[in-house]
Amino acid sequence: MRYHKIPDETVKRLPRYLRAAVLLRRGGKKKLSSSELAEFIGSNSTQIRKDFSYFGSFGTRGVGYDTQKLIKQISKILKLDGQREAILIGVGNLGSAILAYEGFSIYGLLIKAVFDNNLRKIGKKLNGLVIEDIAKLKSIRPKKIKMAILTVPSNQAQHVTDKLVDNNIRGILNFTSCRIEVPRKVKVVSIDIALDMARLPYYMQ
Ligand code: NAD
Repeated sequence: MRYHKIPDETVKRLPRYLRAAVLLRRGGKKKLSSSELAEFIGSNSTQIRKDFSYFGSFGTRGVGYDTQKLIKQISKILKLDGQREAILIGVGNLGSAILAYEGFSIYGLLIKAVFDNNLRKIGKKLNGLVIEDIAKLKSIRPKKIKMAILTVPSNQAQHVTDKLVDNNIRGILNFTSCRIEVPRKVKVVSIDIALDMARLPYYMQ
C-alpha cells in the first residue's frame, strides 16, 4: 500500500506516537485509545485521530487500537520495518554522545558502523564498535546500509556527504550547521539544537 500527500507535520508526529505506543505496550497495555495516547504524550486525541486518518482506519470505534498492531502500522508507514541500520561519521564530542544515546533502539534503529579520519581514533572501540577509517567507507556497500548520521566539522560536511552519496547512502541526519547539497534521490534531515534554544525565550515571555 502506498501513502500519498501526508502532511509533513503529521509525519513528524508519528515517531512520537510510535515511541508512546512501544512504551505503553512494554508497560502491559494491549489496547489503547486515542485519548490515552494523547494523555501520555501531552497532545490531543482529535489531532491523533486526524493524523491516523491519513492512513486509513487503525482502530475500532469505542474499543481503541490494538497496541501491537498500531506499532506495526506506524513502523510500516515510517518504513522503519525496512530501513533500520545507519552509520555515523565523525566520532567527536557529539558523535560519541549520539553513540551512547539509547533512544534509537525504541525504533529498532541501529548504528552499525562508525567512521572518522583521525588516526588516533581509528581502530579504537566505542560502544562496542571499532572506529573505522573514512577512507574505507566502501565497506558499507555490501551491507546495504542506506542511512548516515553526520557529525563532522562543518567545513568537512559537503566533502563527506559526497562520499556518502557515492557509497549508496540515501538518507542523512545532518548535525552540522552546513546546508549540504545532495541529489534528489537523497533525503536530508537537519538538526540544530541552537535553533530550538533560540526560540525558547520567545515562549518564555
Ligand atoms: P568534534 O571536533 O569533537 O568532532 C568531529 C569529529 O569529526 C572528529 O572526531 C574528527 O576527527 C572527525 N572528522 C573531521 N573531518 C572528518 C572527515 N573528513 N571524515 C571523517 N571524520 C572527520 O566536533 P563536535 O563538537 O562533535 O561537533 C561535530 C559537528 O556537530 C560540528 O559540525 C558541530 O558544529 C555540530 N554540532 C551540532 C549540534 C546540533 O545541535 N546540531 C550540536 C553540537 C555540535
